[in-house]
Amino acid sequence: MNHIEFNKLKENFKRRNIEVSYFETLHEVQQHIFEIIPSKSTVGIGHSVTLQKMDLTNLLIKRGNTVYDKELGNTKEECMRIKKKSLLTEWYITGSNAISIDGRIVNIDHSGNRVSAMSFGPDKVVIVVGKNKIVDTLDEAIKRAKNIAAPLNAKRAGYNPPCVKLNKCVDCVSDERVCNSLVIIEGQSDWSRIKLFIVNHECGF
Ligand code: SF4
Repeated sequence: MNHIEFNKLKENFKRRNIEVSYFETLHEVQQHIFEIIPSKSTVGIGHSVTLQKMDLTNLLIKRGNTVYDKELGNTKEECMRIKKKSLLTEWYITGSNAISIDGRIVNIDHSGNRVSAMSFGPDKVVIVVGKNKIVDTLDEAIKRAKNIAAPLNAKRAGYNPPCVKLNKCVDCVSDERVCNSLVIIEGQSDWSRIKLFIVNHECGF
């Protein structure tokens, strides 16, 4: 993404009350997260390959944060309890399936906890996005979420909807479907709530 495109993206999100920052590396992102989130804050983590790459959950726990990440649960019930607690945290950190230069954040979710937290609940939300997730328009963002992110996430999570073999969405209706929620964030009423961190790397799906 060149400077002109980035400035356009930043301006479009700013008009929608979403703050955009740019980072060269995931290490820079992690350092900035540590600067803005107090070490005593509660933090919810929305599952993301990008955040796992940063080992963010363990780093936050080590510095004293109370972290609610479903990956810390040992049973299905415990994971559910953690997912619910993460909805009422001071901070929530997650990734995204796609963002568009015209100013939208698009996510598909299986159980809905991640898209719920992004929309309402936690006081502040940080969304970390690699350059591979950026497309021009809302339509392209939805296409990316359904045809690229969903099949890869389904495979990673051990589900087997048709898109895993076909590498494209056929709008399946089955128990294996991973896209039970498709949520488009079009803007925010509170300027400082969602912070979008763009990283100059290919991160996650
Ligand atoms: S609707 Fe079904 S086929 Fe389409 S992306 Fe979701 S899980 Fe895959």
